[in-house]
Amino acid sequence: MRSEFDFINLLRQRVASSSQSIVTGIGDDAAVFRNNSGKETVISTDLLVEDIDFRRTTTPPYLLGHKALAVSLSDLAAMGSRPLWSLISIGVPEDVWESDFIDRFYDGWLELANRYAVQLIGGDTSRTNERMVIDSIAIGECSAGMAVKRTGATPGDRIFVTGSLGAAAAGLRLIERGANLGDEDLQKLDHVLLRQLRPEPRVGWGIVLGEERIASAMIDLSDGLSSDLNHLCAASNTGALIDASLLPIDERVVELCGRRALDPLQLALHGGEDFELLFTVKPENVARLPRRVDGVEIKRIGEVTEANAGVKISEGTRIWDLKPGGWKHF
Ligand code: ADP
Ligand code: MG
Repeated sequence: MRSEFDFINLLRQRVASSSQSIVTGIGDDAAVFRNNSGKETVISTDLLVEDIDFRRTTTPPYLLGHKALAVSLSDLAAMGSRPLWSLISIGVPEDVWESDFIDRFYDGWLELANRYAVQLIGGDTSRTNERMVIDSIAIGECSAGMAVKRTGATPGDRIFVTGSLGAAAAGLRLIERGANLGDEDLQKLDHVLLRQLRPEPRVGWGIVLGEERIASAMIDLSDGLSSDLNHLCAASNTGALIDASLLPIDERVVELCGRRALDPLQLALHGGEDFELLFTVKPENVARLPRRVDGVEIKRIGEVTEANAGVKISEGTRIWDLKPGGWKHF
């Protein structure tokens, strides 16, 4: 069966862009085009399908609203752009329509939107038979020529990641095993549950890395480090060498895995939905990196290599292929 990514690649070839104003079409975290004010407009859309991308029974509506916007803001951040507007379409079954679910959903959505002054400018509402569907569109802007694409990495660039890895995947496993989400008293929830249910898009880092021209290429970690690094390397036509000992694995993940004899490295490499930014920086620009933005630190985890060296990871003296092992819809 063809993969989601083969399908996207074929589609991209069928619609090869002829318009001068398109900076980036299919194949990046968001589409980018030049607008009349001399800036670039950045647009991303994300579909959330009940029982595929989330479970209504284990996702408090308030946090689902937050997450629907967060995933789109993360894609805008991955282009180095500032979020401005959003459209949101919902398809809901009758039982949801008759409950207060949607109102709570928009409470969570609006709280995150207000934090970044993102304005809701439209959407659509329809009915489904059983399961909810949410389509979240976010629109942002960056200075002309400043959008950070997946294609810009070259051998020798250093590879960095924001924040920490593995917690969202660990949180999902706890939820699947019946973790009690209580009555939405967020303060009492385990930190890994919140990393799964309430991802924080790295909006501030995205803007700094783009507008200060620090990052040469960037992608957000939605599918998992192994998959998303492979996407970035394929787009840039490079390889990469990651040092496992440098990965900022979430401390709580290490603790939880230790108790269950699980391997935290597997969660950090292949677990999706951390929504951190993975980016590359030319050696001469490394000194310009701020230490932290909005309280979030970054970590250097490896280096971009030639394409024929492949995408690899070293652990002590061992080196192996880092194959995409993250989330796939098909
Ligand atoms: P992300 O995980 O960053 O949201 P995706 O893997 O969903 O990115 O998409 C990669 C690229 O493929 C994006 O440019 C996206 O717009 C495009 N894309 C995905 N699905 C479709 C589709 N059904 N039709 C057209 N373009 C698509
Ligand atoms: Mg993305």
